[in-house]
Amino acid sequence: MLAALLKKIFGTKHQRDVKRMMPAVQAINVLGPELERLADAELRVKTEEFKKRVAEGAEVEDLLVEAFAVCREAAWRRIGMRHFDVQLIGGMVLHEGKIAEMATGEGKTLVATLPGYLNALTGRGVHIVTVNDYLARRDAQWMGPAYHALGLSVGVIQHEASFLYDPEYVTPDIRLAALRPCGRREAYLADITYGTNNEFGFDYLRDNMRFSLDELVQRDLNYAIVDEVDSILIDEARTPLIISGPAEESTDKYYKIDRIIPKLKKAATIVDGKLSEVEAQVEGDYIVDEKSKAVSLTEQGIATCERLLGIDNMYDPQHIETLHHINQGLRAHALFKKDVDYVVKDGQIIIVDEFTGRMMPGRRWSDGLHQAVEAKEGVRIERENQTLATITFQNYFRMYAKLAGMTGTAETEAEEFANIYKLDVTVIPTNRPLVRVNLPDVVYKTEREKFNAVTEEIIRSHEKGQPVLVGTVSIEKSEQLSKLLKKRGIKHEVLNAKYHEREAEIVAQAGRESAVTIATNMAGRGTDILLGGNPDFLAKELLRRKGLDPSTAPAEARQAAWQEAKKVTDPEHERVVGVGGLHIVGTERHESRRVDNQLRGRSGRQGDPGSSRFYLSLEDDLLRIFGAERIQRIMERLGMEEGEPIEHKLVTRAIATAQKRVETHNFEIRKHLLEYDDVMNKQREIVYGMRGEILDGASQAETIQEWTEDLASGFLDAYAPANVHPEDWDLAGLTEALYRQFDLRVAPAEYKEVTSRDALAELVRTAVTERYRQREQEFGAALARAIERREMLIVIDHQWKDHLLSIDHLKEGIGLRGYGQRDPLTEYKREAFDLFQDMVERIKTMVVERLFKLQLVRDLAFDVPGPAVWREARESRGETPSIGRQPAPAGPSRTPSGAKVGRNEPCPCGAKNPDGTPKKYKKCHGR
Ligand code: ADP
Ligand code: MG
Repeated sequence: MLAALLKKIFGTKHQRDVKRMMPAVQAINVLGPELERLADAELRVKTEEFKKRVAEGAEVEDLLVEAFAVCREAAWRRIGMRHFDVQLIGGMVLHEGKIAEMATGEGKTLVATLPGYLNALTGRGVHIVTVNDYLARRDAQWMGPAYHALGLSVGVIQHEASFLYDPEYVTPDIRLAALRPCGRREAYLADITYGTNNEFGFDYLRDNMRFSLDELVQRDLNYAIVDEVDSILIDEARTPLIISGPAEESTDKYYKIDRIIPKLKKAATIVDGKLSEVEAQVEGDYIVDEKSKAVSLTEQGIATCERLLGIDNMYDPQHIETLHHINQGLRAHALFKKDVDYVVKDGQIIIVDEFTGRMMPGRRWSDGLHQAVEAKEGVRIERENQTLATITFQNYFRMYAKLAGMTGTAETEAEEFANIYKLDVTVIPTNRPLVRVNLPDVVYKTEREKFNAVTEEIIRSHEKGQPVLVGTVSIEKSEQLSKLLKKRGIKHEVLNAKYHEREAEIVAQAGRESAVTIATNMAGRGTDILLGGNPDFLAKELLRRKGLDPSTAPAEARQAAWQEAKKVTDPEHERVVGVGGLHIVGTERHESRRVDNQLRGRSGRQGDPGSSRFYLSLEDDLLRIFGAERIQRIMERLGMEEGEPIEHKLVTRAIATAQKRVETHNFEIRKHLLEYDDVMNKQREIVYGMRGEILDGASQAETIQEWTEDLASGFLDAYAPANVHPEDWDLAGLTEALYRQFDLRVAPAEYKEVTSRDALAELVRTAVTERYRQREQEFGAALARAIERREMLIVIDHQWKDHLLSIDHLKEGIGLRGYGQRDPLTEYKREAFDLFQDMVERIKTMVVERLFKLQLVRDLAFDVPGPAVWREARESRGETPSIGRQPAPAGPSRTPSGAKVGRNEPCPCGAKNPDGTPKKYKKCHGR
């Protein structure tokens, strides 16, 4: 009561927002007449002038009034639409980085040009995000002339194509009229870039998998205006973008290396850290350090491996990976014991926890060790599909310096927008008063009765000439209704949101006399329904009837068709208005009120007459699951008879309550998912940030030195801890570790002089620094820097990929382990953090090892295109890998895609017979 009263006195927040902007609207209006007098060229010069002022330090805010006025004038001249005052307000809300709620048909496409133009003046780029490729193209072609007149460039990114808007570009296909094909990067360099959320997101992920700066297509993410923002940021928030590929480029190498391991001879095992053990290594290929679970190849060992594998230099950059795999193979054989460290079960290696002795299904050793053990045991090495890069829309769009959105339905989700995206919602009044009548819901006992009633209602409207748009919740329900209508001989169209372009044409005519259109939620979105029909779309149809292709027909024919269409639609418009405009029939209430409002909003645009009604039954999911009892009670009280519907405000209200409950529930699910994703998001930020810095060409020398020192002092702590008497130092272990890591041989004699730990630390530090300096001299500083960057990228990419695989497994396993009372999210966070720490350690170790060991035998190729599997990557919109989902049974007899392999088919490991033909499965891993 009080709230309502206060609202009366002070107005709602939205009204106050709008009021606050009125002076600016007036100021823009005042500039109108003056701008009208300018020649086209003079109008264009305004852009230059604005840009100059921005470059000289003016805030774009200060230019808002002038820029909006100029943009409005250009739109009027080139598109034939002059922004309404409410559209100016919408533009200001978008500029402020908020959500403008503007009803369907209010002209949001045009609204976006205002903040688009204003913010493009900084030259940092503006992205306008649409829900499908067709709309991205349409909006760029539609609004392009206004931007063009003002000297701004407009890019369009599509799935596998990109364009620049260029009115002079001639193409026989008018669907691509004025769209000149261009490179992806060029489209992103444009002042304004139109594209879908999917394409923007995938381009971001792809950019972060590139290996050189000039392959990147996106610039810094500056300002995004998201159209249909509720669909993109809320409905689609549950399905992240995923680029995936095989986990292994090839599993061959593990088997190949595994075969040579038994041929290598052990030189020594370091047991109690005696240096004599190191010295005794003259004969033999490798030394085992059991305490630190490490193995190192001796010089002789390196030579043996080179001979066995037919490699001329193991330290050649292209073979250094092999060296790593040999090391893992040696560890697998020498240090990891079956039934102690792991068990083999159903063709899989399952790790046994070293402390508890429990089996840890789903857990994997990193960095090729797991595969090495698989090869040793002769089980199949999975070439499973893994995530290579992934991001949710939440996290993608939160990276923009400024984010804004527009939609007809945002207010019901205002809390989520505020919480997750820090986006405020402002409701903009309609240009003309809304006169649509929303009739109260009708509820039936059974679904059958409901659909019969819907059919009758459609026929009633249809017969009096009124167009009807029927919304359904699924394709299945659409078909069901379609059958009923067919039986009654009613002509109708069915849309399933499958063919955006074709469905746009159909839905554009949903306002024609007696038209009946059945559509699922998403179908035909973004297309305006004009009462009496849309002459543009009708003209196309007329051309087709004449045997002409509307996309290539000559201009005169198109013009004539349009005139003809107009003759049809104008009088028809009057007649449809006369029978009450477009009638909306909902066949079920959606879980969210917002989606119902979207359906309703299709009618009553720009002051048109219209009506809407929802039909429900007690068998509908929403009522069954969430509100049945309460509604049943109301119905009993109202005395509902069998076969008779009820229609009462109380019911409508009870349903809204049920919807609110479901909305809250769904919000909780999305929030929960986001919490899981946040963990990965932070890690991704760190890794992508590091990559970006390296690609930018920043010197990494300092980082490398830091890592080198970290590693060296780590060895000191491990082999000569501060609290241990010098006599008990494990100098043999230390020596081997230094050799393994830095290719540095400390002669045992050198330790003779050393009596204190400080002296030992000094000895190690000097030796390592000297070694680093030596390496630098070998290469020369410039080349050394380049090699550092290159090696870092290679290792980071490999390790990140490996880490993502572990995370995939962790997510699957976390629900299976059973944590008693503990919260799986906390456990997930902790383990994901540990895995990340481990990865960072591995990156340090491997980068430094490679830098200290590799030798340039020939010119180094700098265009390494990332891990080979990235080239096989696939993009998809996946379900979020649900937490704790049962992992798919990974039988040993499956192809990478999971299909079963026939015994006579080629083995999925790719092995070949000596004559080059593929080995049969039964002769290889199927044995
Ligand atoms: P929305 O996206 O808000 O549903 P659209 O951008 O599809 O709306 O535009 C709806 C219709 O309104 C289009 O047919 C467009 O031509 C028309 N329109 C929008 N703004 C104006 C304007 N300022 N003057 C005239 N017509 C306009
Ligand atoms: Mg729209």
